[in-house]
Amino acid sequence: MARRKKIYEGKAKILYEGPEPGTIVQYFKDDATAFNAQKKDVIEGKGVLNNRLSEFFMTGLNNIGVPTHFLKRLNMREQLVRACEIVPLEIIVRNFAAGSLASRLGIEEGTPLPRPIVEYCYKDDKLGDPLVTEEHIAAFGWASQQDMDDILSLALRVNDYLSGLMYGVGIKLVDFKIEIGRVYDGDFQRLIVADEISPDSMRLWDIESGQKLDKDVFRRDLGSLTDAYTEVAKRLGVMPKQATHVAKPKLIN
Ligand code: 5GP
Repeated sequence: MARRKKIYEGKAKILYEGPEPGTIVQYFKDDATAFNAQKKDVIEGKGVLNNRLSEFFMTGLNNIGVPTHFLKRLNMREQLVRACEIVPLEIIVRNFAAGSLASRLGIEEGTPLPRPIVEYCYKDDKLGDPLVTEEHIAAFGWASQQDMDDILSLALRVNDYLSGLMYGVGIKLVDFKIEIGRVYDGDFQRLIVADEISPDSMRLWDIESGQKLDKDVFRRDLGSLTDAYTEVAKRLGVMPKQATHVAKPKLIN
């Protein structure tokens, strides 16, 4: 059998050339990293959960008219996605103060923000993904003004969708990060949600208890990461409620 071509290997995923031109196979690894890869571990089952959860969120977004790169899930760890040119920005949306915003501005974690705040970080691991302003983005040509308008609109639509979805299962969406890709349809360029949407890139707190159900469990040594992600998957109906074996998660097709 011919070996498929690896295009890129990141901290949590590997990208392979897809079966058709313009497609990519995205493989979810079990590797967990934090603090710009200074903290690392392998968490058995994380890749399987994130593959399934990202499929769930991206499918929902596609269905409500928010375009994403997701085409279909191929197996437990892989999904077929549309190839796109990634805009070199991390788009962060915050509903409650936490993480770097809480420490940067001295606001207590959990404080509700007066309105969703959208921040941009320049995607560069060597620099630790620094926070940038729209001035930097325009001056360095990372995205045009039209792109920025579209990115803001996509980010807020994703926020409304995810906040509502999570609220319905007793979870507070504190903040999240998305990435945006450019695709070309003939002469036209469109922006779509790309990369992944999973508890690796969100802060999710149980509404009643405040329990963290996201990657902060790993970052802050708060217990089992797969237990936390499994709880999210169960509440969303992605995994059977009675499932107990979290090391090798049993997922609903
Ligand atoms: P903070 O800036 O507070 O560290 O992160 C804000 C939100 O964006 C959190 O939900 C965090 O998980 C997500 N985020 C920020 N940077 C990254 C990143 O490089 N990778 C991932 N997966 N998520 C990130």
